[in-house]
Amino acid sequence: MEATGGDELEAVKTYFNTSGFERWNKIYGETDEVNKVQLDIRQGHAQTVDKVLKWFDEEGSLEGVAVADCGCGTGSLAIPLALRGAAVYGTDISSSMASEAGRRYEAARAQGGKGSATFEAKDLESVQGRYDTVTCIDVMIHYPQDKADAMITHLASLSDRRLVVSFAPYTPYYAVLKRIGELFPGPSKATRAYLHAEAEVEAALQRAGFRVVKREMTATSFYFSRLLEAVRV
Ligand code: SAM
Repeated sequence: MEATGGDELEAVKTYFNTSGFERWNKIYGETDEVNKVQLDIRQGHAQTVDKVLKWFDEEGSLEGVAVADCGCGTGSLAIPLALRGAAVYGTDISSSMASEAGRRYEAARAQGGKGSATFEAKDLESVQGRYDTVTCIDVMIHYPQDKADAMITHLASLSDRRLVVSFAPYTPYYAVLKRIGELFPGPSKATRAYLHAEAEVEAALQRAGFRVVKREMTATSFYFSRLLEAVRV
């Protein structure tokens, strides 16, 4: 954080363009160059993505449905959505992430599949337009609660119908785990991580005109993520 003068957004961007990209590109990939903790996080994250895809699949065809995936990372969710026929716009504050998502999409597309996807380096506050569904998976961990409210309000303003968001939930147990984790500095601690109380996330969604209709939780040894689907009231 010192290198970026204490500006957290810049610190997150720098991290995900450098060492964070190396780390998360491996975790979100298929190579076996991952340690046990990274493998656990990879498996937990894959479960979250599968749950989101199941929710989409339950709604029927995705042909031509406009989806904005904000903080898309390497495209773990955006790419399968596009291959199912959605018109996906993926953005990420990290240009390394956005380029990698585009590269992976082209590779997947070469194997067949429909739909379309474009990826752009952009912080989610700068995303504009209207989409049927807006997704934002495992990004809120980079936002303190006072900033998360504005983030949710902005995501809601982009969505005509549905929002799917996930976050690391605040519970006394996870707060202790996080505290313990902070005692052991390592590469994963290069940015701060924030837990969020579900009631506060839900209240922010309500203020933005959305009602939570589905909930899921994924917890492995080192990965935990609460997933909410909310629809415009
Ligand atoms: N959503 C992806 C997934 O689930 O595979 C990536 C999750 S990764 C833990 C968090 C991502 O959020 C990183 O790619 C990071 O660059 C991005 N990010 C963090 N803050 C952001 C912001 N303000 N705007 C856009 N992307 C952001």
